[in-house]
Amino acid sequence: MNIVQPAAPPLSPELIARFRAVVGDKYAVTEPADIAPYLTEERELFQGRSPLVLRPGSTAEVSAICKLASEYRIALVPQGGNTGLVGGQTPHHGEVVVSTRRMDKIREVDPASNTMTCEAGVVLQVAQRRASDADRLFPLSLGAEGSCTIGGNLSTNAGGTAALAYGVAREMALGLEVVLADGRVLNALSKLKKDNTGYDLRHLFIGAEGTLGIITAATLKLFPKPRAVATAYVGLKSPAKALRLLAIAQSEAAGSLTSFELLADIAVDFSIRHGIDIRDPLGSKHPWYVLMELSSPRDDASAALEAILAKGMADGIVDDAAIAANLSQRAALWKLRDEMSAAQKPEGGSIKHDISVPVAAVPDFIAEADAAVTKLIPGARPVPFGHLGDGNIHYNVSQPVGGHAADFMARWHEVNAMVHAIVMRMGGSISAEHGIGVLKRDELPDVKDEVAISLMRGIKAMLDPLGIMNPGKVL
Ligand code: FAD
Repeated sequence: MNIVQPAAPPLSPELIARFRAVVGDKYAVTEPADIAPYLTEERELFQGRSPLVLRPGSTAEVSAICKLASEYRIALVPQGGNTGLVGGQTPHHGEVVVSTRRMDKIREVDPASNTMTCEAGVVLQVAQRRASDADRLFPLSLGAEGSCTIGGNLSTNAGGTAALAYGVAREMALGLEVVLADGRVLNALSKLKKDNTGYDLRHLFIGAEGTLGIITAATLKLFPKPRAVATAYVGLKSPAKALRLLAIAQSEAAGSLTSFELLADIAVDFSIRHGIDIRDPLGSKHPWYVLMELSSPRDDASAALEAILAKGMADGIVDDAAIAANLSQRAALWKLRDEMSAAQKPEGGSIKHDISVPVAAVPDFIAEADAAVTKLIPGARPVPFGHLGDGNIHYNVSQPVGGHAADFMARWHEVNAMVHAIVMRMGGSISAEHGIGVLKRDELPDVKDEVAISLMRGIKAMLDPLGIMNPGKVL
């Protein structure tokens, strides 16, 4: 993707030496080969460039970096696990990368208050495990959890597969510590659920994609650890039937329904074809599948799941279903789902969408988008999958079989514009959970309220008057 933006001023050797002095020689990366992994991203859509990657080990070091950057107007790009999908963590114009990965301490787990305070660079899976060791649940869960970080999760307001029951990242953060562009440290690491002392500033930084400051730590909410988890893989005929099954599951299981993922047959086929050790969980093929999970503090999850499936079968909604009998079968079902994005790569070019519409509109959205996309590009293969329970579908489109990937990818914006027009007509969002970054930046003014955009610009100007904090992202 071509990003047009003015180049950052070159860094003098003296200034590099001053940044180096802040983090120490070992943690100021200047060798091109060592910098390279910070410049590419998962989808290979963006290739960045940077003369310097700084790897601070403390909030004080992040603060010193920001002070120095402000003094010399040096643009900074915060980066966590580098798993973001919209180019927000990539230095597109030679900015200095501030990697938080060394800030990986869990400062405190407080089971009595149900909180955990993590530094920004803690990997999500590490946070989940530490909560589990304390007999608690940290419910944020997504395919990249082995490498994405708490700071990145909050900065993108990540959603994931458990948002249905626990909400998105924003709802899991009680407090934040943030270094502002001028180096001041905002200490708002509160454990309080109730605190009505003025503006709730944490929400400005959550979902800001690093454009307003660098999150250095967060106090997160913990939940009771479920005693029982039951997972089913269901074959059915259509998204409309999946929606009816969702309604049954919600009325039977209420808050115990933690995941409800809709998977098109082609997405499942890709996972089985290209994933390692992935098998079809059902004996026969179906046009659509649902991966559904219940988690309960009591031992009643399996019984509730069986009741949902029985009702679904009696109502002619469920055609076939498999229930995971043990942890390894459950892991196998989730592997099939989690490999879905990666499994699209060997199929050639893939044009991505991360959209949400009101839950009830999902079947119509998929039908309309399929018709429009295949009319525009005959042979194009829609691969919809995602979080039906949240109305959030990853509406990806793979290139026609035997076509040219480059020709297909050249139509990215054309396909996006068409799909996003359907989304907007249905009252939806063009970015449900991945953010804006640079990928959707130019579309934002077309889909967001004018007053909202002007307030966003005002907040940006107030918190980052020199424009050094992840410039060119979001706005
Ligand atoms: P990065 O990629 O490093 O950064 C992302 C953004 O946050 C950038 O704008 C960056 O500048 C900013 N940032 C990072 N750290 C900080 C910080 N400490 N302070 C300020 N700004 C910061 N997302 C979902 O919501 N749901 C999913 O189900 C989901 N599944 C995914 C599956 C796969 C296989 C992959 C590769 C990605 C998936 N994502 C998903 C994308 C998701 O945004 C990221 O995985 C994750 O939340 C980003 O964390 P990160 O540490 O990798 O951040």
